[in-house]
Amino acid sequence: MAGADIAVIGLAVMGQNLVLNMAEKGFRVAIYNRTVERVDETLVAAGPLADKLVPCHSIVELVAALEPPRTVLLMVKAGTAVDESIAQLKPHLSPGDCIIDAGNADYHDSMRRDAALKADGLDFLGVGVSGGEEGARHGPSIMAGGAPKAFERIGPLLTAIAARYEGTPCAAYLGPAGAGHFVKTLHNGIEYADMEMIAEIYGLMRDGLGLKPAAMAEIFERWTKGPLASYLIEITAQALRTTDPATGRPIVDVILDSAGQKGTGRWSAIEALDLGVAAGAIVAAVEARGLSSAKALRAAVSKTLGDAPRERIGEATPELIADLEKTLLAGKILAYAQGFEVMATASARSGWTLPLDEIARIWRAGCIIRSSLLDRIAGAYAKDAGLASLLLDEGFAAILADALPAMQRVLGLAIGKGHAAPSLAAGLSYLQQLRSHRTTLDLVQAQRDIFGAHGFERIDQPGTHHGPWGGTA
Ligand code: NAP
Repeated sequence: MAGADIAVIGLAVMGQNLVLNMAEKGFRVAIYNRTVERVDETLVAAGPLADKLVPCHSIVELVAALEPPRTVLLMVKAGTAVDESIAQLKPHLSPGDCIIDAGNADYHDSMRRDAALKADGLDFLGVGVSGGEEGARHGPSIMAGGAPKAFERIGPLLTAIAARYEGTPCAAYLGPAGAGHFVKTLHNGIEYADMEMIAEIYGLMRDGLGLKPAAMAEIFERWTKGPLASYLIEITAQALRTTDPATGRPIVDVILDSAGQKGTGRWSAIEALDLGVAAGAIVAAVEARGLSSAKALRAAVSKTLGDAPRERIGEATPELIADLEKTLLAGKILAYAQGFEVMATASARSGWTLPLDEIARIWRAGCIIRSSLLDRIAGAYAKDAGLASLLLDEGFAAILADALPAMQRVLGLAIGKGHAAPSLAAGLSYLQQLRSHRTTLDLVQAQRDIFGAHGFERIDQPGTHHGPWGGTA
C-alpha cells in the first residue's frame, strides 16, 4: 500500500520513538526492522497512533509503501549497519529518492556515502539527532547536512518533529554532507566535557566536603535556577536524589565508576587535534572515561602508590559552594568555547560555512546539552558571526573575569588536597595560556633549535635565527 510520507528502518529505542513522534505530528510512516518482530512490537507500542503506521516485513514492502521521490530514514547502529542497510535499499530506489542516516555517524562516512549515492542519482542527508529516548519521542534537536534539495523536501517533516525553544524549532540545515554529523559529533564532545565537569564538582562535594547525595542533590537543584540552569544539572540532581530499591542506599553509591563511550567524544578530540585547535577540556573528558573503565589498572596502581588522598578541601559554607558553582560555570564556558572553535576552524578549512549562531539556537532545546547558556552563545555569534573565540565576546569575558578567582581557588585546593579534576583543570590552563602575553614556549623553541636546528624568531629582530649553542650536539 503506497502513500506513506516517509519510511524508517531501525526500530530500537531511537527509531521507535522517532516513528511515534512523526505519527503524532500527523505523518504516515512505513516501518521496518531487520528483526521483523520489532515491527509488530512497534505497532503495539504505538497504541492509537498505529493507524498512522504502515508495518512492513521486508525492504521491498517498505519501498512500495512510498510514492517517488521516496525518503527512507535509517536509525540503525552506526557503522557497518548503515552501509549494509544502504546496500539492501539501493536496488529498490530510483533517482531522486533520498536516504537519511539519522544515527551517530562518523562524518567522514557521511561524506563517503553521499558521494557514492550521488553517483546513482540518489540524495543523501546525514542528520545528527540529539535528545536520547525522550527527545526522539517528543522533540529532538536536529542537525542536517547533505543535498539542499532533499532538505527542502523533507525539512518540513524534520522541523515538525523537532523540539521547540520558545516556539522556534530546533532543526536546521547546516551545510553539505558531513556537516550535520560533524556538528553532532562536536555536540557530543561538549556533552562529554559538560558531564565530566559536573562529575568533578560532585567529586569535590563528596570527598572534599563530605556531603551526602541528598545534600548534593539540594545544591544541584538550586543551581538549576541560576546561571548553570540546564538539563544535565537537572538530571544530576535527579540521580543524586534517587535511592537504590535493592539496598536502600543512594543509587550513585552502588553504581560502578566505569563509564562507557560510543565514539563521538573521541572523534571530537581527534578532530580538534587534527585541526590544531586546543580542546583540552573535551580531550580530558574523553580520557577520564577511558581511565574510568581501566578499573583493574586503577586498582593495581592504587595499591602500589596508595589510594589518592582526596582530603577535605573545607566546610560546605555558602562561600565555598558559591565558588564551586562559579568554577563549574567557567569550566562550562571554556568547554563550549573550545567546541565552537573546533567547528569554526573546521568550517573555514572545509568551506562549509557552518552557521554557529544557528547551531547554538538549535541546541537550546531537545538536546542533551540544552542550557540557558546556549541562548547567550547564539546571541554572541548573531552579533559577530566571525567571532574568533567566545572568550572575545564581552558578555562571556565578563562572566569569566568574575568566575576566574573562584576557579583558581577551587582548583588550587583540589590539586593540593589530592583530587583529580582533569577537565576543569584543562579548561583553566587553556584560559591562562590564552590570556598570557608571554608563555613558556620560548624555551621549547630553544630546545628545538638545539637538537634540530629548527631556528627561532627573536622579539627584537626580524628573520629566523639560531642560538649560540656552543659545542652542544
Ligand atoms: P542501536 O542499539 O544503536 O542499534 C540498534 C538498531 O540497529 C536495531 O534496530 C538493529 O536491528 C539495527 N541494526 C543493527 N545492525 C544492523 C544491521 N547490520 N543491519 C540492519 N539493522 C541493524 O539503537 P539506538 O540506541 O536506537 O540508536 C540508533 C542510532 O541513533 C545509533 O546510530 C545511535 O548511535 C544513535 N543515537 C542514539 C541515541 C541514544 O540515546 N540511544 C541518541 C542519539 C543518537 P535489530 O533489531 O535487528 O538488531
